[in-house]
Amino acid sequence: MSKRYLLCLLLLVQQIAHAQVYELAAVGLALGAGAFQKKPQDPNAYVTMLAYKGKSVSQKRTPPDKLKGKAAAEIARVEAALAVCSANLLADELRPICTDQQYFDLQLAIKRIPWAQKEWSVSAYDAENDFYRSENYWRTQRREQLAREVQQAQQVAQQARARHEQDSLFSIEQRQSFRADSISRLAQARKQAIADSLDEPRRKARAYELDMALLTPAGRRLVEASAKPKTHPAPKSVAKRPVARPSKSTGPSAYFCTSGNTVKYHSSSTCQGLTRCGASISRISLREAEQTMDPCKFCH
Ligand SMILES: [Zn+2]
Repeated sequence: MSKRYLLCLLLLVQQIAHAQVYELAAVGLALGAGAFQKKPQDPNAYVTMLAYKGKSVSQKRTPPDKLKGKAAAEIARVEAALAVCSANLLADELRPICTDQQYFDLQLAIKRIPWAQKEWSVSAYDAENDFYRSENYWRTQRREQLAREVQQAQQVAQQARARHEQDSLFSIEQRQSFRADSISRLAQARKQAIADSLDEPRRKARAYELDMALLTPAGRRLVEASAKPKTHPAPKSVAKRPVARPSKSTGPSAYFCTSGNTVKYHSSSTCQGLTRCGASISRISLREAEQTMDPCKFCH
């Protein structure tokens, strides 16, 4: 009984000893491994967040006294390059942040860090580099959009200028041709009216007078004021009706002195303006009168 108990105790002691040996071995292995591989760096070490237009980006900047290890120089270069991009980002809203070439160079340099120094965390560098690339893309788009808008505005202004020039040229041509038309139409109508009512020498004298009047600015103004575009009737209607005879038309009448120097028409044959008429007083349709003469100031 006591002998069996002793055996059991021995076995137990042996097992405990074994377990301790295993534990010791495990600790030893762990220590050995630790000698080859350092603990990975905290990804947030030396990282601050930069807020930009509702977004935020991580910026890892290692203090110089913490830069140790095989990749120290590479780390310093990467952080310096990222700092340049960051300055461009904050300088203004349209400036290019970094070129595609710079982006790819930085990407490669960031990859080289863990090859030399495995425990160094580079996730913040990658995130920052990617952020600048995407911001740079939007800035390029915006610059191109602005350039297009400026170009469009310039085109619109140019078209408006061209249209305006064309319009004013057209209206000048129109005014000139209208003026020439009305002068010649009226001159013809008046000459015809005179020819119908006067004897030869007087007719010639009056036609000459009329030509002279049309050549002066005042004469031309008179012609323009009384001429109406398009609706102006053809002068031959005047030619067919000798003004000395009473008009057959049924509209309102007008009266004028047949002396040959007449430039006014009257609403009544007894108008004060006709008292000095040495020749006879003739009746004519108001329409015809308006085409060749001006209204008298006494009765109109
Ligand atoms: Zn009168």
